[in-house]
Amino acid sequence: MNPATFNATHRLYKTGVMRTVNCKQAKTGPGNGSQALAYFKAIKTCLDRAWPKQVAASGARFRSPGLVVWGGSVNTPCGGGVGRAFYCPTTHTIYMESPSIISFYRQNPTFGRMVGTFTMAHEYAHAVQWMTGLGQAYTKLRYDASAAGALQLSRRLELQASCLGNVFLGANRTSYGITGYAYQMWLYDVNNSGDRPPYPRDHGSTTNHGAWSRAAFQSRNPASCNTWSVSPARVS
Ligand SMILES: [Zn+2]
Repeated sequence: MNPATFNATHRLYKTGVMRTVNCKQAKTGPGNGSQALAYFKAIKTCLDRAWPKQVAASGARFRSPGLVVWGGSVNTPCGGGVGRAFYCPTTHTIYMESPSIISFYRQNPTFGRMVGTFTMAHEYAHAVQWMTGLGQAYTKLRYDASAAGALQLSRRLELQASCLGNVFLGANRTSYGITGYAYQMWLYDVNNSGDRPPYPRDHGSTTNHGAWSRAAFQSRNPASCNTWSVSPARVS
């Protein structure tokens, strides 16, 4: 099967609504380096419980990703990061950058918690993309793409990661406490994440980022996250 068809018809979209795993948010927020490590580890424990069922139902094998929490710089086969979190397929590891999350937390604890939580859920979703073959198909598609085509593929991948991340957050919103003011802060984060000048257009507009994120949070269903079959306008 060609990789475009593979991604547009993947069984992950047919795995149904994600069940809650009744995850609770860590009591202590990411106020310093060691607290950030504990905070991210707690979310990862939740994600490790939530995703195996969905991944298995899609026909793929679940493999828990690694987690490295860093500040300053980090040495990986995918580069050193540029002040932001990333997932590296080569090591199947999430590299969470903590200083920016700690800084948000000190300005507004609830916002800092929501940014840290959403970022972890997004990076973990990249790990799911590579467990299920969606990521490998993306890599193949990029070989033959023009520069503009490669950016569009990147946006499909990134918007899908935010979408799948928010399937998890929606499924666990009550136990995890994404309600009231925390919900408002989550909403602000997802509605304001995405490409801004002068950055390259590789993550999608803030409008599209908000749309995919909100839909997934409501549906709690990976069926909402097929970014590979929609028109270019929806992944602009
Ligand atoms: Zn990403």
